[in-house]
Amino acid sequence: METMVQLDNVSKKFDESYAVENVSLNIKSGEFLTLLGPSGCGKTTTLRMIAGFEKPTSGSIYINGKKMDNIEPYHREVNTVFQSYSLFPHMTVFDNIAFGLKMKKVKKEEIEERVNKVLKMVQLADFGKRKPKQLSGGQQQRVAIARAIVNNPSVLLLDEPLGALDLKLRKQMQLELKHLQQELNITFIYVTHDQEEALTMSDRIVVMNAGKIEQAGTPYEIYEKPQTRFVADFIGETNIIGGNVTEIKENYAALEFGSQEVYVPNNNYQTGEKMFISVRPEKIHLHTVQQEGKISLKGRVKEKVYIGSLVKWIIDVGNGNEVKVQQSASDVEDLALDTEVFVSWNPDNSVVLKQ
Ligand code: ATP
Repeated sequence: METMVQLDNVSKKFDESYAVENVSLNIKSGEFLTLLGPSGCGKTTTLRMIAGFEKPTSGSIYINGKKMDNIEPYHREVNTVFQSYSLFPHMTVFDNIAFGLKMKKVKKEEIEERVNKVLKMVQLADFGKRKPKQLSGGQQQRVAIARAIVNNPSVLLLDEPLGALDLKLRKQMQLELKHLQQELNITFIYVTHDQEEALTMSDRIVVMNAGKIEQAGTPYEIYEKPQTRFVADFIGETNIIGGNVTEIKENYAALEFGSQEVYVPNNNYQTGEKMFISVRPEKIHLHTVQQEGKISLKGRVKEKVYIGSLVKWIIDVGNGNEVKVQQSASDVEDLALDTEVFVSWNPDNSVVLKQ
């Protein structure tokens, strides 16, 4: 697939500090790419530079192969949808969506046809005559999206577009937006700090931290194969275990974990080396008797949270260490607090992290 947006070593400095530092990224045509990270990590600044609202301090941005260094926002093949919908309150829904086309002097019949088509797409076919304040938050957001896509942009930039909606509507709109993106085959660059939203919607996620890219990959790669502690911790829940390699046994390296040991597949590790691994709670099993496998840590039930289909456990494995376990409610018996248990996992399900 061809590259639609390219960031080539882009940095942005405000005063003396970097909001974005040396970011290089190729975004493919038709891709749904999400910039994900905590507040202040530089997501919005990156998006604003692509839109042309901010100028990079260094580096260049290319859209559809063209260098954007001196191209004004309104001459770029992009449209932006913000969290604040910024609709014109005195205009009808139809006129809000038609506004850009009227400014471009598109013919009346064509405007009518294009606006009605996008109104249908965002499921607001009967709402054209209403004013924004006569709509719910979710409906207003759909109008904002309709207004952006009616111009047939090559790239749509979306900055936390669902941030103001309640959880249920947000989840519904996530799926709607994803379907719309697939239908239109427009490149979406989407900003969110919500990891679940990113996992649900994206073809590819770029995790940012302190102005830099920590990792870029498919939702599966980001969740299953986090490369750094930051990514493992930020996406979903995990156990991060750090310890020294005590010995190498066949294909496994043993890692001290309090007074016990866990194992990771060996990859030329050296005895004495300090390592960090991530193990997802749902990869961990809970037993009332010691297990035969490689890892079987002795502990006690410290906390148990029942959330319907799942049970989340915190197991105290001694020396101030805890292991989070998540199991299907039907898989485990109802163990009382302080019961002695054993936690085990397949060493292949742990991921070794870069620092
Ligand atoms: P959020 O999720 O809170 O919107 P973000 O990841 O989008 O955060 P940015 O808005 O890109 O982060 O901000 C990155 C850093 O740059 C922050 O430290 C912010 O304070 C700083 N910053 C952003 N815009 C400006 C500005 N116009 N002037 C000075 N500093 C700025």
